[in-house]
Amino acid sequence: MSNPDRLRAARPVRNLSMTPDILVKNVALWGTEGLCDLAIANGHFVSIGQGAASSNAGLTLDAEGRMAVPGFVEPHIHLDKALISERAPVNISGTLTEAIEILWNIKRNYTVDEIADRASRVLERALESGIFRLRTHVDVDPIGGTRPAEGLIRARDRFRDLIDIQIVAFPQEGIVKSPGTEALMREVMKSGVDVVGGMPFNETSPQDSRRHIEIVFDIAREFDADIDMHVDETDDPMARTLEVLAELTIGNGWQGRVTAGHTCALASYPRDYADHVIGRLRQANVNMIANPATNLMLQGRLDDYPKRRGVTQVKELLAAGVNVACGQDCVHDTFYPFGQNDPLEIAFLLRHASQMSQPAEILTVMDMVTTNAAKALRAPDFRVAVGAVADLVVLDARDAREAFATRAPRRWVIRRGKLIAEAKLEMHRYFDVQAMPAT
Ligand SMILES: [Zn+2]
Repeated sequence: MSNPDRLRAARPVRNLSMTPDILVKNVALWGTEGLCDLAIANGHFVSIGQGAASSNAGLTLDAEGRMAVPGFVEPHIHLDKALISERAPVNISGTLTEAIEILWNIKRNYTVDEIADRASRVLERALESGIFRLRTHVDVDPIGGTRPAEGLIRARDRFRDLIDIQIVAFPQEGIVKSPGTEALMREVMKSGVDVVGGMPFNETSPQDSRRHIEIVFDIAREFDADIDMHVDETDDPMARTLEVLAELTIGNGWQGRVTAGHTCALASYPRDYADHVIGRLRQANVNMIANPATNLMLQGRLDDYPKRRGVTQVKELLAAGVNVACGQDCVHDTFYPFGQNDPLEIAFLLRHASQMSQPAEILTVMDMVTTNAAKALRAPDFRVAVGAVADLVVLDARDAREAFATRAPRRWVIRRGKLIAEAKLEMHRYFDVQAMPAT
């Protein structure tokens, strides 16, 4: 292929005479000033600008000033356990430990089919929410074997054209203390799992926790894979594996390729030590994921007042220049009985837990479920630009504050240039305000 041909194939040329498949008019694009029109043809944006597009599009959508993002990104969810609460015993203590233990019996009886089906139900809901990129953890241990991973690989295949799904091999039961897990992790990585997970605090000593992280890096190097661990998901201020993760990230040259989820203990550390760890995370370029729903529900359960809330130090991490995103984590499972995989709902919870109410903070939290999460998943194509794949979610809101205040309906969900979902906004009124008696 000649050079110009290659350029043409990689970047569709702006062509004002081309009839767009879809024209989205008067939209407030996230991160830009004013309103613009977006023309979409052959799955890509072909023009962006005020009145720049042809008006004879196949479908014209007038956004009337509503805001839009290039889709939402879900960076941390557990699809293999999702919706399990329909048949699980109640988590009576409300703790993380009991949530894990009451799963054991269910995991023994997992089948690949039912895991794929539960995951698919949640993925359909994710699409309605405008999620086009998603990273899910999957339990890998001798209890469930490789079945959870097989189930999620099957669900990923079903949604191949709709959601970019990354699967993380998650050794929830530990690695050192759970013989056989390390071999299973290699097995699922060979069968198509993308990212190496970890849960180093679930070991029996600090030495074993360190060994757990070393094994994760060994596997990641073997498969040239990114790492995404559950780190210090406990209120215990003596849980110190986050610092070890930062140290080994630098030692292995894996900067930018490592993500840490939960990190609840960071919220219990003394200020000096917390600042030290945050500085190391910045040096190691570790991505951080806050999981406010599950952590607010499970952490501090056994505390008297004042009660720890278990949500990691979001503002402090951001202020230090660390990339921070937030994710759903659990959907109707033994850990958390709610969740509808809506990033606006999770972000709404986060801004309460982390007290992010200022105008600039409102914008930052929108970044956390879009651009920051895309960075953690290393999805560089996440943007609206001429030539880019036409992904767009128009919210029924004028700005981010309104979007969060109402957890705005997704007015139109456009994926790869196709309208795949829309919210009906009609409300039938059966009363007449004028006719109501004065009070
Ligand atoms: Zn998790």
